Parts: sequence; C-alpha cells; structure tokens
Amino acid sequence: MTTYQRVLLKLSGEVFGGGRVGVDPDVVAGIAREIAAVARQGVGICIVVGGGNFFRGAEMQQRGMDRARADYMGMLGTVMNCLALQDFLEKEGIETRVQTAITMGQVAEPYIPRRAVRHLEKGRVVIFGAGAGMPYFSTDTVAAQRALETRCEVVLMAKQGVDGLYSADPKLDPTATKFDTISYQDVMMKGLKAADATAFALCMENKMPLIVFGAEEEGAIARIVAGEKIGTLVS
Ligand code: UDP
Repeated sequence: MTTYQRVLLKLSGEVFGGGRVGVDPDVVAGIAREIAAVARQGVGICIVVGGGNFFRGAEMQQRGMDRARADYMGMLGTVMNCLALQDFLEKEGIETRVQTAITMGQVAEPYIPRRAVRHLEKGRVVIFGAGAGMPYFSTDTVAAQRALETRCEVVLMAKQGVDGLYSADPKLDPTATKFDTISYQDVMMKGLKAADATAFALCMENKMPLIVFGAEEEGAIARIVAGEKIGTLVS
C-alpha cells in the first residue's frame, strides 16, 4: 500500500530541457520511466507541465513584448512539453491523456475536470497543458488548482537543480539551510520562493500539502509515494 493514492506532479519546464532551452528527449524518457513505475503501482497521477524551457511571459515583456501575448506563447510552450512526455509515457506502455486549457482538438482534449477524474479512475495518467489558459498566471498556481479539482492528496513539485525548500537560494547563499518540513504561514512570512505566492495561498487555504523535491534525485517520485521523507513538506 502506498502512502498516496492520487498525486499531482508539477514538472517545471526546466526539467524537460535538463536546464537548457527546448526538450531533451533523453531527460524526458528518464522522467517518463519514473512516472511509469509509480503508475504501475496503481497510484493516480496528474501532471501539470511548465513551459519555462521555451518562454516565460514576464521575461519576454522585459524584452519589449506585450505581456499577454508573451504569456500565450508561454502556455503554448507547455503543450510541447506535454506531448513529449505523453510520447515517452506511452512508450513505457502507460495510457495517457493530455488536456489543455486552450482548446486544440487535434493534439489534446480540452480541460474537462470530470473527464480527467474518469481517466484517473481508469488508470490513465492525465497531463494538463496550456496552464490556466489565462495570461498573468503561472503553472504552479494551475498545479494547486488542478490538484484540488481532481482531488489529489498532495502536490509534488519537482525542481531542477535544488532538492527542497531552503532558507535562501542555495545557489547564491552557501549558508542557506534546507527545511524538512515547514508551514505555509512560515513560507509566506519568510518570503521563501519555490512556487509562486498564489499557488502557496491556494494550497494553504484548502489544506493541500505540497512537497518540493529535486527532479534529479533517483526514483524520487516513487520514494515519496512510498512514504519516504525527501525534499521539503509544506503543510
Ligand atoms: N503562463 C500563463 N498562464 C498560465 C500558465 C503559464 O500565462 O496559466 C505562461 C507564463 O508566461 C509563464 C509561461 O507560461 O511564464 C510558462 O509557465 P511557467 O513559468 O509557470 O513554467 P515553469 O516555470 O514551471 O517552467
């Protein structure tokens, strides 16, 4: 018996590119293998996919683009990641469905929450793309929202290059220390950044726990689902 029966995994775009722009098929194949192993245990898995490996609206705005248009580009970028992940999951023999918040019938289903739950009940992995379909939002916030709407027990937030939530950015501050557990209130008060504030607020308000962990850690998702305490638990 696993600790969790249904989880929402948030994969930031950085994870797909292995830290570079675009999609690295070897990296995605590795993530798919991990997710497939967990799915085979009968754990329901929803995935919200980021797009920072292609475009981030706020960065494009700083370089002269209209924010909303750049955000739509960002959302479209997430869909490319979704399709790559779907492909490698299916190569692992896992049934998947991609649902997008911007309708694009040729490549994915529209986001229909009840249908997503039905897919989960049938053992399919459901991948959510195109964020919320709205500019000025982030895929972190969408992860919290989708987790709530599809009744997941926890949000698993995979991070590239960091293995949990730290008192400061460990890449910039060598004295930064990692939290094993922390409350949402403390995250807010200390101004810690591992997900955006809206996502944290949504989780806090609705008592949805969140685990921040390192995407590079071997078998991390399976270990978390089995009850091992890795990364940082925010609750
Ligand atoms: N985005 C958006 N609305 C959403 C989700 C995403 O406008 O609901 C845009 C936004 O420009 C964002 C980009 O898509 O910068 C990529 O998403 P995000 O930055 O959340 O991806 P991640 O950091 O997880 O790779």
